[in-house]
Amino acid sequence: MSGKLKKCMMLCCSGQVTVRLLTVPLDPEFQFLAQKEDMGTNGSNVNSYEEAIAGLKKLLRYSLSLSHKHFCEKHGLEGVAAAKINQLTAELEGTAAKAFNPVERVKTGFAHFKKEKFEKNPALYGELAKGQSPKFMVFACSDSRVCPSHVLDFQPGEAFVVRNIASMVPPFDQTKYAGVGAAIEYAVLHLKVETIMVIGHSCCGGIKGLMSIPDDGTTASEFIENWVKICMPAKSKVQAECNGLDFAEQCKNCEKEAVNVSLANLLTYPFVRAGLLKKTLTIRGGHYDFVKGSFEQWSLDFGVTPSLSA
Ligand SMILES: [Zn+2]
Repeated sequence: MSGKLKKCMMLCCSGQVTVRLLTVPLDPEFQFLAQKEDMGTNGSNVNSYEEAIAGLKKLLRYSLSLSHKHFCEKHGLEGVAAAKINQLTAELEGTAAKAFNPVERVKTGFAHFKKEKFEKNPALYGELAKGQSPKFMVFACSDSRVCPSHVLDFQPGEAFVVRNIASMVPPFDQTKYAGVGAAIEYAVLHLKVETIMVIGHSCCGGIKGLMSIPDDGTTASEFIENWVKICMPAKSKVQAECNGLDFAEQCKNCEKEAVNVSLANLLTYPFVRAGLLKKTLTIRGGHYDFVKGSFEQWSLDFGVTPSLSA
């Protein structure tokens, strides 16, 4: 390998490579990857962790070779002078210096938390080191704008939180929704939370996705639409009662109706029903509007009677 080629390879493989798998046309020699290892669009081809890793390695090798090829074509490998290489390297380093650095962001974020909160509240963090006894279990959307600890000023140890797309509670199902079921079981039976609150929010993309599912029920995503279908009864109710409203207004209504469906789904968990009957547990709905800066909460009278007891 010539010295120039080595330099070019180093530049291409120096960690500055942008993975452009989905934006560049595939060279014919790599078409087999698109057919066999199309991890970006067809996960069903990957049957195991080992296959996924092997496929990822092939894709990375392809990406690096493609980046190298494009770089050399663009800059003319044989004609590139050392000065030009140095200039490009300097430009790349300059760009990298300005680029967002996730490692540094985490370091400075934790340093701030440790100095301003952890070290200033030894009593609180000392207690939390022994255990937790949160009064709340909260379901909130994964949306980066609606963190319940920020919005409701929950301190560490106050709320046991589950976040997912559109803050939905699926009905009791030990095979399909075990992750959510385990969280509810732990919160109710072990932590003995006193309130479960499900919080919807304004401009929720998950609710918009639910409202956008075609009437024939066909879906285009691998997971998202099947997940938000949990609150299909909310969509049906909104379409029946608010069909005079435009789509945005219907979505707004559905944000709250979906919370009510989740509250109803909570009743399918035997330990939740038992807690309600014993009056050791309450369930509440909430809606955070980050456009208006408002929060409303409500409880529902389900008319729970002993006959619903597990
Ligand atoms: Zn959302």
